[in-house]
Amino acid sequence: SIPLSFFGGIGGASKKGILVKGGNYLEALNSINTVVFDKTGTLTEGVFKVNEIVNEKDYPIEGVLEYAATAESFSDHPIALSIKEAYGKSVDLSKVLHHEDVTGKGIKAKTEWGEILVGNEKLMESEGISYKEIDAPGTIVHVAIEGNYAGYILISDKPKSDAKETVKALKEAGVKKVVMLTGDNKAAAMNVKQALGLDEAYYELLPQEKVAMLEKIKGEKSEKGNVVFVGDGINDAPVLTMADIGVAMGGLGSDAAIEASDIVLMTDEPSKLVEGIKVAAFTRKIVL
Ligand code: ADP
Ligand code: MG
Repeated sequence: SIPLSFFGGIGGASKKGILVKGGNYLEALNSINTVVFDKTGTLTEGVFKVNEIVNEKDYPIEGVLEYAATAESFSDHPIALSIKEAYGKSVDLSKVLHHEDVTGKGIKAKTEWGEILVGNEKLMESEGISYKEIDAPGTIVHVAIEGNYAGYILISDKPKSDAKETVKALKEAGVKKVVMLTGDNKAAAMNVKQALGLDEAYYELLPQEKVAMLEKIKGEKSEKGNVVFVGDGINDAPVLTMADIGVAMGGLGSDAAIEASDIVLMTDEPSKLVEGIKVAAFTRKIVL
């Protein structure tokens, strides 16, 4: 005879590329109140492209890009990859004397030209650099050298092809609220919120602020049901742990995220969560 797990349950989920760490987590997918997604790499492709480079008058555009690419040379953040691609040449690594990853803010690098800062407004503020405030529908990466503002790079990312239908399907499945958390700026967050029809989006959050926000969402919900967090891994482990159901996305996500999660989606498609909910509903039908 064919085992029941062929049709439903953990076995059925795993055949669809959804690894569930226990029957209780599968069952928990039947009562979801809120789904909280991380933005970059989860709802969006996480592949950024440089759209525009704007320089201050003392710094040529090529200089702004070269400073940024050099400071980013040791980073594999999606933003760093897009800047290095736009630069197009190989960076002279001997120019970099020291580099520091400033979580949720950017990069600080000591180079032969002086100290280079590449990152968001928070980085400029914490380093005391006066920067240009830009209102553009993308991610602004500010560049400063030796304490002077040199210009900014406008880059953009786009939603994954199944992100919009995922939000719609979750609402149809009875999820009350679909929310997004991001370390990115307001304009980038609002752009994605509107494009995908999200209920709420919280932006400019440091990793520990994402944890606090998730705790707040759990505490404030007016009806019963689980709070699910879906993230692609980088820096997400504490939020995954805080959620009722932590879902790590991408089979190749970070080990820490896979460890901290209750469910692992083997592909990068957010719609896998909807498939998981369907398996959970089907499994409950068989069991009852
Ligand atoms: P998200 O929450 O969208 O996954 P991250 O926490 O990875 O984003 O990063 C938050 C923000 O910090 C980015 O939007 C960017 O402004 C800045 N940042 C992080 N790493 C870098 C980097 N290597 N270069 C430039 N900016 C960075
Ligand atoms: Mg992230």
